[in-house]
Amino acid sequence: MLIDKLNLERKNFVLSLYTHFGNFLKNSRMSLENIKRIKDWGLGINDHMVISGPCSAETEEQVLTTARDVAKDKRVNVLRAGIWKPRTRPGSFEGIGEVGLEWLNKAKAETGLLTATEVANAAHVEACLKAGIDILWVGARTTVNPFSVQEVADALKGVDIPVLVKNPINPDIALWQGGLERIAAAGITRLGAIHRGFSTYEKTPFRNLPKWDMAIEMMRKFPQLDIVNDPSHIAGNRELLPYVCQKALDLNMEGLMIESHITPTVAWSDAAQQVTPSGLTELLDGLTFRKENVETADANQLEALRREIDELDDDIFQKIASRMKVADQIGEYKRENSVTILQVGRWEEIVNKRIALGVAMGLDDEFVKTYLKLIHKESIRRQNIVMNEGQAELAGK
Ligand code: PEP
Ligand code: MN
Repeated sequence: MLIDKLNLERKNFVLSLYTHFGNFLKNSRMSLENIKRIKDWGLGINDHMVISGPCSAETEEQVLTTARDVAKDKRVNVLRAGIWKPRTRPGSFEGIGEVGLEWLNKAKAETGLLTATEVANAAHVEACLKAGIDILWVGARTTVNPFSVQEVADALKGVDIPVLVKNPINPDIALWQGGLERIAAAGITRLGAIHRGFSTYEKTPFRNLPKWDMAIEMMRKFPQLDIVNDPSHIAGNRELLPYVCQKALDLNMEGLMIESHITPTVAWSDAAQQVTPSGLTELLDGLTFRKENVETADANQLEALRREIDELDDDIFQKIASRMKVADQIGEYKRENSVTILQVGRWEEIVNKRIALGVAMGLDDEFVKTYLKLIHKESIRRQNIVMNEGQAELAGK
């Protein structure tokens, strides 16, 4: 009797393990299967989705004038504006709040643009649903926190609204995927991702490292998931926007979210990266929107190798720019501490070590020498500027 009971319990236990494991696999594999591509969201967007508008809604006038001007460019189909702003440090502008939703609606009525804003909690979702905002996005600082994403997802249960999920601020594919899965599990099928780059301690020319490999991995894992690129938060400055946008398009991303402001330099948040509406048109004019798909290009081996070279050249440039930034800092140190620019001992040490390393890596020693000379010359040129700036400051005092 007892043996029978034990056997039955064991059987039930094993069965329940199977069921749990089966559900686990099903949830982890299938929950992104039903999502729709942006062109099937019923929003009338058949080509690239171009989202633009201010980082933050500041005043009614600012939202309306920006919207009117960006709407003149027919490639723009969605107006963005942050209403609640997650700021790194307190004391910065934390968003205008709900009243901004009315401004977005006014802008929509006037221009016909769809509206989009960031939500980070249930109250935000409810306010947006009540106001009739067209598209919601989950910000990078929210995607990092499963509790917050779940709160947003719970508020979205039973609602049919398009949602975009930004990558988390740390380069973690599973966390990005998890954020998307939580929203999908709430029943959202009009779901997409936004690639906005990743926080880093490294000194880089970007505000957030693009780490294109992360976006490519998402495309590989979820071929049905459309990705919109956010060059503004990757670049952090206007100058790098064309490069980031083109790179995103070349990787076949479905859209761009570009911050624009009627007077960017006095914006209440992210002033350095926003463009004027006419700057936006100029930026879009300079881009090549390719029709070809990556599969065809990838089928061609030469094309694939060329892409790899492009990728490596980009990395090399990024590293050189980082190196120059450190050289500038050394220049500042030398200025403050009255050290001479050229320290022969240090330079010889660098040359000898690097040539040995380069040769060990299969590079030609003459090539390494020429490269080092060029880099060194440029560092010195920049340090001269940094140090002379200091002199000019002193002379002015
Ligand atoms: C934004 O889009 O203004 C924003 C806050 O972005 P992120 O979540 O990427 O930092
Ligand atoms: Mn911003």
